[in-house]
Amino acid sequence: MSTSPARIVIIGAGQAGGQAAYSLRLGGFVGAITIIGDEPQPPYQRPPLSKAYLKGELDADRLFLKPVEYYPEHGVDLLTGVAATRIDLDAHTVELSSGAAVGWDKLVIATGSRPRRLSLEGAGLAGILELRTLDDVDRLKAVAHPDARLVVVGAGYIGLEAAAVATQLGLKVTVLEAMPQVLSRVAGPEIGQFYNRIHRSAGVDVRTGARLVGFEGVGQVTGVRMEDGEVIPADAVLVGVGVLPNMELASDAGLICGNGIVVDDQMRTSQPDVYAIGDVAWRPLVHYGREGRLESVHNAIEGGKIVAASILGAPPPALDVPWFWSDQYDLKLQTAGLWTGADERIMRGDPQSRSFAVFYLKEGRVIAVDSVNSAPEYLVGKKLVAAQATVAPGELADKSISMKDIGARALS
Ligand code: FAD
Repeated sequence: MSTSPARIVIIGAGQAGGQAAYSLRLGGFVGAITIIGDEPQPPYQRPPLSKAYLKGELDADRLFLKPVEYYPEHGVDLLTGVAATRIDLDAHTVELSSGAAVGWDKLVIATGSRPRRLSLEGAGLAGILELRTLDDVDRLKAVAHPDARLVVVGAGYIGLEAAAVATQLGLKVTVLEAMPQVLSRVAGPEIGQFYNRIHRSAGVDVRTGARLVGFEGVGQVTGVRMEDGEVIPADAVLVGVGVLPNMELASDAGLICGNGIVVDDQMRTSQPDVYAIGDVAWRPLVHYGREGRLESVHNAIEGGKIVAASILGAPPPALDVPWFWSDQYDLKLQTAGLWTGADERIMRGDPQSRSFAVFYLKEGRVIAVDSVNSAPEYLVGKKLVAAQATVAPGELADKSISMKDIGARALS
């Protein structure tokens, strides 16, 4: 192990920031660790916010990544409810909203991302909500009475997960999506068509190609105004139209940023001793020979592990292909890899059976898989993606050939 720095400061007490601290301690780091988090809670997992927690099936403390005692017991100074307001690269300090400043030898920026907001007339009305934090979901739960009318703007994972839960809780839900298909940013059209049908059959009014122009109401939102003049009545509106990286601290400090803070394969930014991880990082995507920003738990955890290994001079962790999941109704969607750039899509199984998969190929190689309620397709598919294996499309489409056999042949 190389010489360890004495003080590590992590900005952002989320999935990535928390993981960096845990991995540093696991890796034997004995110096000071400070985590600065502007939310009141210790690091917690966000996926249940639009799933089990929204449904009322989990208590908030079950979301915490580590019990609150972990931090004092492991000498991690966790500052909650305090924002980092400025990074001084020359002085090696971070200024805080409390007026204090903390010094660092290595700085990890793990500030995540924030929901994109709509700049439409009435967008500031009460009852127009977003879903990123525990506090956001508590606001949504407060209006989620049976028979309340909820309009969800944006049919990405979060919007559709919330729509599924809200429908199950008895709300009258409308989903407005500007694109011709739901989930179009994250999955192929077959997956979008399937989820469109599932939501409609559950009673959700899914409208694609929808153009909203503003919100109605005095103080409190009462409706969503569409381009054609229709007003969809709403007691609450949930806006889920993507996120923006929280990179202003970094760009103001002079770090190179694009659509995220630019980092190398060790998560090092353009300045020595400063790292960025999680949603905010624009990182090499080694399996795809390009760079990008990932918004997933896997990416946040991997970033935390990489940064700890880099700081400690330890061997880097093995890199997994990007993976993601989404729970809607009784359906588990599992995704491995990134499908952009695919020139062929192979359907395996019948969507009517509610258990199927779509494999994405580029020049004959498997670059991604979306599987719905079908674990073998996901598990073997993930290995095929990692190897960018060549598999005959006919074989992938043939359910009489098991995934085990396909994997054994392609990966031998
Ligand atoms: P975050 O977890 O957002 O943490 C960043 C923290 O930094 C936040 O607490 C933020 O407030 C804080 N911060 C920002 N600026 C400052 C500052 N200046 N000073 C101090 N603190 C600051 N991923 C999956 O893989 N599967 C899923 O099913 C899934 N579902 C999701 C459902 C929801 C509702 C949401 C919101 C996300 C979901 N995700 C899912 C995405 C996943 O949760 C994120 O990719 C992950 O949390 C990113 O981790 P992070 O640490 O980069 O950011």
